[in-house]
Amino acid sequence: MTFKEFGLDERLLEGIDAMGYENATEVQEQVIPPIIAGKDIIASAQTGTGKTAAFLLPLIHKLITSHHEEHHINALIIVPTRELAIQIAQTMEGLSYFTSVSSIAVYGGGDGALFTIEKKALTTGADVVICTPGRMIAHLNMNYVKLDGLKYLVLDEADRMLDMGFKDDIMRIISYLPKQRQNLLFSATMPFRIRELARTILKDPVEINIAISKPPEKIVQLAYVVYEPQKIPLIKEILQQKEFGSVLIFCSKKQNVKQLARELKRAALPVEEIHSDLLQDQRERVLLDFKNGKLKILVATDILSRGIDIEDIDLVINYDVPHDGEDYVHRIGRTARASNTGSAFTFISESEQGKFARIERLLGHPVDKADLPEKFGKGPQYVPRQERPSKKRYGKYKKHR
Ligand code: AMP
Repeated sequence: MTFKEFGLDERLLEGIDAMGYENATEVQEQVIPPIIAGKDIIASAQTGTGKTAAFLLPLIHKLITSHHEEHHINALIIVPTRELAIQIAQTMEGLSYFTSVSSIAVYGGGDGALFTIEKKALTTGADVVICTPGRMIAHLNMNYVKLDGLKYLVLDEADRMLDMGFKDDIMRIISYLPKQRQNLLFSATMPFRIRELARTILKDPVEINIAISKPPEKIVQLAYVVYEPQKIPLIKEILQQKEFGSVLIFCSKKQNVKQLARELKRAALPVEEIHSDLLQDQRERVLLDFKNGKLKILVATDILSRGIDIEDIDLVINYDVPHDGEDYVHRIGRTARASNTGSAFTFISESEQGKFARIERLLGHPVDKADLPEKFGKGPQYVPRQERPSKKRYGKYKKHR
């Protein structure tokens, strides 16, 4: 389906053209018409499906074709991370380039000057505000944010926001909004908590389901079963033995990110790290260098596992086993985007075998286990302990009696 068929404004079609989009993606096809018709939406769609433009396009269209207050915030988009706020703001800038719709990203992390710029925009009114919850609350606490003309609310990556403990902040922000408004909720997964949130926020929503909770088949998945101390030597070996275009390495903890980046730098590998301890402009610089290919290897926390769109990553390495299946799918989904192929390696230590077996159950098949390079000797056997919760509980129960 072409974008013209949605009846979008000419100025917007120019922006779409300049962004290089030809046809609408599936989520765009399903979501744009009901948003234009004024319906509330609950959509399960992951990053990479084109969901950002799916809500930005109809919002911009509505802002330029219907009456809206000039010096008010008309649309508020709440997102979990600064990186995602910046990315949406960039897409917004591109798509709205030929229109007069204004927007600002409000995400904190910067200096006082940035806060002042945000304050000015929030006071004089930017049509579209893209914010992280904490920073928005900081502004709301100072009583100058003009939200009384707001017409549209978007919650993006809602499951991630709940995981990060933002529920109360979100509800608090919503308490400042006019009751009469259009609500759009996007989430990669639809656990009960999200449905509950949707019930309190949305009115008679149209439900759309585009989620793929299985990784694309073009990703070659391999796992290395190792002893924990073998992980660093193995990752060095992999990175030194083969030429990769760009490699994204995930660690669950930022301490591990720092330690691993240090070790890889010591081995003269072109690596940088990204985690929440870095200043905002450092994070942006590293991400930009990685995106445009200047930086080959990036070690990151799960901050980068969702919502971030980087093409051309050849290899994702899970230095540790992700917390659950969804995280695994998100992490490895950073590779093989667009039409490229990619690989995803996961290192499994002895204590992580049970966790990985659960992920394999979600995937519906075992992941191939690679042999360790000869000089590493033998790794541990892959014999994940079977979980038998009912037996375990029974045993305890008996003991306590
Ligand atoms: P998203 O799921 O919003 O993170 O989008 C993933 C990527 O797809 C981004 O790089 C978008 O610029 C791109 N994209 C979104 N819509 C389209 C489209 N209709 N055609 C081509 N690329 C698109």
